[in-house]
Amino acid sequence: MTPDLERLVRLQELDTAIEEARRKIAAHPQRLADADARLHAAADRVALVHQRLKDNHEGRRALEKDAAVFQGRLAKFKDQLSEVKTNREYQAIQHEIAGAQTELGGVEEKVLERMLEADEIAADVKEAEAALARQQKAVDAEKRALGEELALLQQAFATATDARVALVAEAEPSLVGLFEQVARVRKGVAICPATREGLCSVCHVRLRPHVFQQIRQNDQIIQCESCQRILYYTPPPAAAETPAP
Ligand SMILES: [Zn+2]
Repeated sequence: MTPDLERLVRLQELDTAIEEARRKIAAHPQRLADADARLHAAADRVALVHQRLKDNHEGRRALEKDAAVFQGRLAKFKDQLSEVKTNREYQAIQHEIAGAQTELGGVEEKVLERMLEADEIAADVKEAEAALARQQKAVDAEKRALGEELALLQQAFATATDARVALVAEAEPSLVGLFEQVARVRKGVAICPATREGLCSVCHVRLRPHVFQQIRQNDQIIQCESCQRILYYTPPPAAAETPAP
């Protein structure tokens, strides 16, 4: 292969590496944001169950106040009972007492329901807090790994960029110009191998036999007639020796 072609192949490798590093570096903030979003979701869940527990306690306190009111009323009726003069009065107060007791019973039942519910919510709180702790641990580890990955990507990006500058400095400017012109319109891929079957490996057009023949020599710049990419040829590895009979 001519040094010109070798440089272009190398230039393509560097451009591909630079582009890949650039793409991954650009995706990095989103990956951090995704990790944070998972953590926030777990924290929101904890806040939600805490709020449910708080609502439950407040509801229970309100019911207990109601119960106190009914108990006070019952005590009052019982006091009045000792002072009644007529049977009719006695029955009227007994009726009031029965009503207040029914209401008190209803409220006490609701208090009990709240208490049972509080046990369930407390279990949910415990579970949500454990899930948050697990998520925090996972996100911390992921962020550490992402940070290390970012450092490596930045290093790879810088190394490839420096190597590209050096390569371009020693390459034929008109060839670099052609390479960059094709790369611009062909999604960053300016040079590609021809397949052993005589196809352009990217656009898959079949190369004319004499063009393929020339490409196999790897001694001149030949562009695919269809996609304009510069073509080169990688010969198959030497056939394995046939074992002696
Ligand atoms: Zn092509």
